[in-house]
Amino acid sequence: MLARTVGMALDIEAIRAEFPILGIQHPTGMPFVYLDSAATTQKPVCVLDAMDAYYRQTNANVHRAVYSLAAEATAGYEYARQRIASFFGATEREMVFTSGTTEAINLVAYGWGRHMLVKGDVILTTEMEHHADIVPWQLLASERGVEVRYVPLDRETMMLDMEAMEVGVEEAALVCVVHTSNVLGVRNDVERIIELARSRGRGPGGRGPAGGGAPVLLDCAQAAPHERLDFSTLGADFIAFSGHKMGGPTGIGGLIATEEMLAEMQPFISGGDMIDRVTLEGTTFQDGPQRFEAGTPRIAEAFGWAAAIDWLDQFDMAEVHSHVSGLARRTAEAISVLPGITVHGRHDLPTASGVVTFSHEKLHAEDIAHLMDAGGFALRTGHHCAQPLLAALGVAATIRASFWIHNTSAEADSFIAHLSDIIERFA
Ligand code: PMP
Repeated sequence: MLARTVGMALDIEAIRAEFPILGIQHPTGMPFVYLDSAATTQKPVCVLDAMDAYYRQTNANVHRAVYSLAAEATAGYEYARQRIASFFGATEREMVFTSGTTEAINLVAYGWGRHMLVKGDVILTTEMEHHADIVPWQLLASERGVEVRYVPLDRETMMLDMEAMEVGVEEAALVCVVHTSNVLGVRNDVERIIELARSRGRGPGGRGPAGGGAPVLLDCAQAAPHERLDFSTLGADFIAFSGHKMGGPTGIGGLIATEEMLAEMQPFISGGDMIDRVTLEGTTFQDGPQRFEAGTPRIAEAFGWAAAIDWLDQFDMAEVHSHVSGLARRTAEAISVLPGITVHGRHDLPTASGVVTFSHEKLHAEDIAHLMDAGGFALRTGHHCAQPLLAALGVAATIRASFWIHNTSAEADSFIAHLSDIIERFA
């Protein structure tokens, strides 16, 4: 497929026309402005069509029967695996379908951590994580006697404290870090973190660095929608991501892991399809990713996600990034001077994502969000599944506007004007 925008500005109006939901009427009659893409993105029509066509013309269970339709469904499902893996610079042998980032991280915790980590091992994660990259490690810690340590946020720079990271990796058996924050919009220096973990990490059971240092898991849920990730050169052992945050359907995501790490993993969810042979005495399992996909998989969702990847792959991801990052920067700069508003995070860095999180010294986040909704703006409020991070910021609830490929400068400007009006009238 041709990269229709390489070297050219994105044609946002043409892109918007591909999202049917952007044409809906807001109950108040105001134009609908969707600013919650960090929670889930809207879907281009090709994704809806691919899922509809799957159910109308191809629906059959996969990996089971020999009739033509079943073979077609299996071929489409396996093509989706290969297509999505290749978008991330990986092979189909490295790509496990999961329900999303959360299940992908749990798969590492239970499929790898539970068998490879021993009492006294340290899992190093950070204060910046989504709960999906905290809770599984805490549960594993209580089950296996391993310890979870957290690299703190540097409150001045709103970045991870890299000195603490340097010290922390020395003891780490596994390093788990969010690639791009869903709250602060910052992109962590994942290349440096991988290098530190590889060269200085202790590894499971203290086997590194001679044994390759500490493996690294990156939570790429927020990076995948606007940054081209190349697993083949990144050097991470595991990357986790969600289809629904990159134009695909809900209910599907992925874990990409090196074949070496997949070989070390034990099944987490077991049953049909993931087996090689079952007898009443015991079971042997399939090799590769299929070993971790028990039961009937998300077939229509795989078709839909592959269509979303084809769609996203038309664009130069650097252009997509600069578009969303530019909208966030413009918005953060404008609202940070409004009376009582604090913008949390960094938007001055070229690597910043499309997320702008803020709070007001007097007005409650939910009140602001309700008033903004009356103006047609869809925003997220609350702790964004990052309560430790919000505690570090010293706020209980915030409001988050998140931009993606279909948002316009006019939408950012009307958001700024509407918020400014609310603060003038109610604060
Ligand atoms: N990590 C990050 C950084 C996220 O933003 C999210 C989604 N908010 C998740 C993990 C969890 O993703 P999912 O709900 O799709 O499993």
